[in-house]
Amino acid sequence: MTRLETPAVRERRVPTREGRRYLVRTFGCQMNEHDSERIAGLFESDGMVPADGLEDADVVVVNTCAVRENADNRLYGNLGHLKSLKDARPGMRIMVAGCLAQKDRDLVREKAPWVDVVFGTHNLARALTLLDHAEEWGPVTEIHDETTATATMASDLPSRREVAHSAWVTIMIGCDNACTFCIVPHVRGREISRRPGDVLREVAALAADGVTEVTLLGQNVNSYGRDLRIDGRPRPVFADLLRRVGEIEGIRRIRYTSPHPKDIKPDVAAAMAETPAVCEQLHLPLQSGSARILRAMQRGYTPERFLSKLRMAEGIVPGLATSTDVIVGFPGETEEDFQATLDVVEEARFDSAFMFIYSPRPHTRAATMDGHLDPETVHERFARLVALQERITLEKNRALVGATVEVLVEGPSRKDPAVVTARTRTNKVVHLSGSYPPGTYLDAVVESAAPSHLMGRLA
Ligand code: SF4
Repeated sequence: MTRLETPAVRERRVPTREGRRYLVRTFGCQMNEHDSERIAGLFESDGMVPADGLEDADVVVVNTCAVRENADNRLYGNLGHLKSLKDARPGMRIMVAGCLAQKDRDLVREKAPWVDVVFGTHNLARALTLLDHAEEWGPVTEIHDETTATATMASDLPSRREVAHSAWVTIMIGCDNACTFCIVPHVRGREISRRPGDVLREVAALAADGVTEVTLLGQNVNSYGRDLRIDGRPRPVFADLLRRVGEIEGIRRIRYTSPHPKDIKPDVAAAMAETPAVCEQLHLPLQSGSARILRAMQRGYTPERFLSKLRMAEGIVPGLATSTDVIVGFPGETEEDFQATLDVVEEARFDSAFMFIYSPRPHTRAATMDGHLDPETVHERFARLVALQERITLEKNRALVGATVEVLVEGPSRKDPAVVTARTRTNKVVHLSGSYPPGTYLDAVVESAAPSHLMGRLA
């Protein structure tokens, strides 16, 4: 569906915004951050420059997230503040993009009529055209569904990267799964893979531009290429894509996120092990260790199957570090279910975990299920899980003391300018004394360990 307010949006004119200042405010996941880079790239291709802050921005884009708790409140709070700025400077333009725009287009219009453009996750390529339209004709809303997305996939647009040496590359959008707690299929639509040639060309261009680290992005990278099947020919698969990205000169580190535990197979682990640039890091989202809760979540695997996939990958990729996502307090979760989660986390020994308290999201099946838990019980369980994972993370970090590891410098530490923050291939943060430019590769000796980071010195 395409929804336009009349008159119909016209195609893009000659660039006209030389020197106007823009600001993109991003909420949510890496996909959104990547989309924001694309919006910034489009604006700069039109002559715009980054603003120092909201006060001097001529165009403000709020790139929204529908997954996180309180996302709606934060959006409308932000839009309220922007209204007062716009009242003082009527030439300012406000655009709302991302998953909440996709999901709640009418609500955004109703609650914040001062917004100039509301556009969906598949409409990024039209940001400038929509801005033209709003300036000439007034507020506009444009939301496409996934059937039109191939032409407008964000990675086909120019980009303004936040970091010079590192880049995200979208390989697919959407998700064909139906996890009952997740809103992604509702707002991002069905899976659409980019053609391998487009991905490889983008990575080669990034490498030519000085990028040495890429993260391949998709909601379920293991099903990459399923929609690219052409009769009689083998379809592209993720393992091959990893190998081919690994052949691009200048790319020293490849990461990817996220695989689905039900779909990850030995061919991907083998590609990781046999492609030197692919980092020894696997993020495999567990969500729950209870078979009953996994069924209610419609995750498509049992705890035993999850652990066997994890062991398979660890057996094939030497030195593999693992991380996961866990949700605490899913509707109907009993103490026994939660204990099962603790048992799997103990057995899996992830290097790190993103742990979440369940919160119902509108338009999801879980939101309408019985058995929502009281906050006190959930917070008490959450604290136990965090304590367990912190212990495991610290044990695994301590095992690295004395080891020499390759690190990639990200920049000065936020707390101490005499220290730089860097990252290992296994995605662990290392703080080092000294001053090295972002993008520098160093060998560091690990001197001490904390749950959140390692301390090191130059080897
Ligand atoms: S796999 Fe499940 S959790 Fe992940 S994006 Fe798809 S529906 Fe959401």
